Amino acid sequence: MKRTEPFDFYQPKTLAEASRLLQENGPGGRFLAGGTDLVIALKEKGLLPKYVVDLKRVPGLAGIRENSDGSITLGALTTMRDIEISPLITKKYPFLSQSAAEVGSIQIRNRATIGGNMANATPSADTAPALIALNATAKIASATGERSVNLEEFFKGPGQTVLSAEEILTEITIPKTDSRLVGEYIKFSPREMMDLAYVGVAVAYNLGEKDKKCDGVRIVLGAVAPTPIRAKRAEAALEGQVLTEALAEKIGAIAAEEAKPISDVRSTAEYRRAMVGAMTKRALLNAAVGPAKTWVERRERRY
Ligand SMILES: Cc1cc2nc3c(=O)[nH]c(=O)nc-3n(C[C@H](O)[C@H](O)[C@H](O)COP(=O)(O)OP(=O)(O)OC[C@H]3O[C@@H](n4cnc5c(N)ncnc54)[C@H](O)[C@@H]3O)c2cc1C
Repeated sequence: MKRTEPFDFYQPKTLAEASRLLQENGPGGRFLAGGTDLVIALKEKGLLPKYVVDLKRVPGLAGIRENSDGSITLGALTTMRDIEISPLITKKYPFLSQSAAEVGSIQIRNRATIGGNMANATPSADTAPALIALNATAKIASATGERSVNLEEFFKGPGQTVLSAEEILTEITIPKTDSRLVGEYIKFSPREMMDLAYVGVAVAYNLGEKDKKCDGVRIVLGAVAPTPIRAKRAEAALEGQVLTEALAEKIGAIAAEEAKPISDVRSTAEYRRAMVGAMTKRALLNAAVGPAKTWVERRERRY
């Protein structure tokens, strides 16, 4: 790893101060959360920031809370590890904790934050598909105010989001979900650990207790387009239907058509497209069965 060029380093204690530092110092500044993307960019990818603004001293940016309206809020500085092991998230949204558990290694997950995973906007970001499947909203703050953006609209392209330079992602909120909600996230990467997703698929739907019909279907694909995308035609094909293996296969084929993969060092576009089909089918069927109980089971039932 290279030594970085010198840069100014600030540790503000309020959100307004953090945002103002970016406004006052002008272009060339970066926020720092866990640093697992930023430090690599500095040391290996030639990023030369004029200054870095550390968000970790701003109180109230980390933590998971259940709100009185049944929604759940994840502070932007909540680590992947906290999401992976949170009793609330593992119980309510096991596939979200599963997606956090897919990130890097335990050392990385102890530093990497959910806000950093969103703001860095890699198309393969593991937690984005599950959060979009849960219809999550991002809260964004600056020295001049706050706004909310549905996470589906948050990503604009590889490394690009709706955030302007001085805006801080402060929290992500998952609205109250139906008690019948089931879901699954499958990451496909041949190395299995410490590798970015070649394809990631998150599914979520409400499963009728008696009639077994599916509604509120969300199918979100990662790493197969410039941003995470919903496979809306595939979602519509399951709406109101009873899931069978044949239907899951058909829906997988529709999702594969909706993917917009590229060929790169990891995989050809054709292979990624085929994997979207197989993994969407598997994720839909797995979701109906319930969450995997162990890490080994999760690995084994991916295919
Ligand atoms: C070895 C290794 C393995 C990895 N494996 C995976 C993996 O399997 N899956 C995966 O998805 N990712 C992986 N990553 C990437 C990384 O860990 C995640 O993207 C992580 O969630 C980034 O969070 P962070 O807190 O470290 O962000 P940082 O590095 O601190 O910041 C990343 C970017 O987001 C901006 N930013 C951070 N927080 C905010 C905020 N609140 N508001 C506005 N801007 C902000 C920063 O300015 C910076 O540009 C890996 C990284 C490493 C080094």
